[in-house]
Amino acid sequence: MRLFDPHIHMTSRTTDDYAAMRAAGVRALVEPSFWLGQPRTSVGSFVDYFDALIGWEPFRAAQFGISHHCAVALNPKEANDPRCREVLDLLPRYLVKDRVVAVGEIGYDSMTPEEDTAFAAQLALAVRHDLPVLVHTPHRDKASGTRRTLDVVRESGIAPERVVVDHLNELTVAAVLDAGCWAGFSVYPQTKMDEHRMVTLLREYGLERILVNSAADWGRSDPLKTRATADTMLASGFTTADVERVMWHNPVAFYGQSGRLDLTGPAPDIGESHEGNSIERGPRPAARTAAG
Ligand SMILES: [Zn+2]
Repeated sequence: MRLFDPHIHMTSRTTDDYAAMRAAGVRALVEPSFWLGQPRTSVGSFVDYFDALIGWEPFRAAQFGISHHCAVALNPKEANDPRCREVLDLLPRYLVKDRVVAVGEIGYDSMTPEEDTAFAAQLALAVRHDLPVLVHTPHRDKASGTRRTLDVVRESGIAPERVVVDHLNELTVAAVLDAGCWAGFSVYPQTKMDEHRMVTLLREYGLERILVNSAADWGRSDPLKTRATADTMLASGFTTADVERVMWHNPVAFYGQSGRLDLTGPAPDIGESHEGNSIERGPRPAARTAAG
């Protein structure tokens, strides 16, 4: 089984997670930039974070035969912090990088005027850089937040098929699919969407323009929820081709719109170490490729 996690925050995960993901079938992932739980106090913290997302983290993923790409953005929550606003000026420098396949995650947290400004500005950046967009929907007021999100997406003029609206549920999926956007679902261990509800949704809405992710981060989350969803699909009568469609071909099609998705293996410049550092304190695991 070949899996692609289209939304996972590996910065917050361990090498054990990478090994378990590889064993479960994960061969590729996209790591959107997000809020780290602790407020950042300056733009410099974002420079280091974005550099890690295009440097150290793909290197770490490659040690486990997983192809790593990322999305960069000023996240909705920190869009409210005046100390972080200059991140918007920093983004064009990163949006031209090889392994940056989208702008994200952007959207609403508390639906403030500051979030409005950052959301619209970053949709415009996506249009200018011809990149897909990953949009986060708020966990509170999800229905009204999703409606407003779709209005802003429409007003931006971006092609809806270049937008995934994420963290959806039974109440928000129809509006997103009707708008022509991709529908993203984050499958969590305790709260929100689980793999059984996810499979019920797949039966109801079909497999087209659907992305399933684990969204695993520093909170209670499980980087193997993509595999759990795949297993639940099979147990519910979906075929292996259906699983491959949702868990591999859909994310490849969505992020492939960037023209930068490279699934032939780890990044070409990835060697034994990254800027002189490696993850090894013992013997190196055998070399692998993302496709293998
Ligand atoms: Zn996220």
